[in-house]
Amino acid sequence: MPRIFLLNESTACRIAAGEVIERPVSIVKELVENSLDAGADRINIAITAGGIEAIEVVDNGCGISQEDTPLAFQRHATSKIKSAADLDDIKTLGFRGEALPSIAAVARLSIKTRVPEKNEGYQMVIKGGQVQQKGPTGCPVGTMISVQDIFFNTPARRKHLKSKSTEGGLITDLVYKLALTRPQAKFAFKHNGREIFRSPGSGKMMDVLASVYDVRTANMMLAVNGHEDGVKLEGFISKPEISRSTRQQITVAVNGRIVRNAAVNMALEEAYRGKLTVGRYPVAVLLIWLPPDKIDVNVHPAKMEIKMENEEQIKSLVTTVTGRALRKTDLIPRQTKLP
Ligand code: ADP
Ligand code: MG
Repeated sequence: MPRIFLLNESTACRIAAGEVIERPVSIVKELVENSLDAGADRINIAITAGGIEAIEVVDNGCGISQEDTPLAFQRHATSKIKSAADLDDIKTLGFRGEALPSIAAVARLSIKTRVPEKNEGYQMVIKGGQVQQKGPTGCPVGTMISVQDIFFNTPARRKHLKSKSTEGGLITDLVYKLALTRPQAKFAFKHNGREIFRSPGSGKMMDVLASVYDVRTANMMLAVNGHEDGVKLEGFISKPEISRSTRQQITVAVNGRIVRNAAVNMALEEAYRGKLTVGRYPVAVLLIWLPPDKIDVNVHPAKMEIKMENEEQIKSLVTTVTGRALRKTDLIPRQTKLP
């Protein structure tokens, strides 16, 4: 009969990391979400070789105190919730306290962080869960995390990575989506030292659309706005003249969190029925706001899926509001060429 053993912390951590950190883009997502939760409005992201070689995220958020920095690398250590009751009222993107320990378990992570009250910061280097270096350091207020040697101790994960350009493409798409859902934050994104994208942080989604696409495409987008029974919807959707062959450019965020939600996609596509040919999809950014107690975000470790209590109400709001915007353009006569 095989005996039962309790796994040690570092083994448990590496297993847990498998759920949260699947590929380089997962690291970028977790780091940027932490920056946003820290109130940062300037976030600089730099990756090397599709994020396979290195990832760096620098923010101007609240920073972490010297006492708390080692705690941030312990599993289930978080500043965002205190008890199970708080799970019903999540206002932050993170709450599981798993990202930093998971990343540090499968890579080499270096952090420099400083809180505004202190004139020096604190740094730590952790590789494969082992602290290699720690102590005071000079750095600006905020947090800078760089990650290297990704999956050095999990060769199976490493083998499953796609090409540098595919992994880099996933990160680029994520950065676009994050910037679109947070127009008030100034994002800058570099790949192999070259600037790929920058958003102005003006607070206007239209300005981010113009940076992600181009001014012409941005001008072809229709503003959508509506609310009903405590649910608010805002964003932009493309005129039917612009369409894509995949749903990749439909961005949906619920309470600021980017989610995959088939119901919202269906509701949006319903509004385009008869306006787009089969197999074509709009470009859209839909920000949905609803009372936090109406959603359960604790469904999936990567938190990309959520459960919404009032899904039918949200679907009907999406179809009504987007349908109304599309019908308005029908009324504007297309320009006819003069003979
Ligand atoms: P979670 O985000 O679920 O709380 P993480 O492992 O991602 O868990 O982070 C642990 C803690 O470290 C956070 O709760 C937060 O207090 C702190 N932290 C992480 N990143 C940052 C950052 N960029 N700025 C300030 N604090 C941070
Ligand atoms: Mg987090």
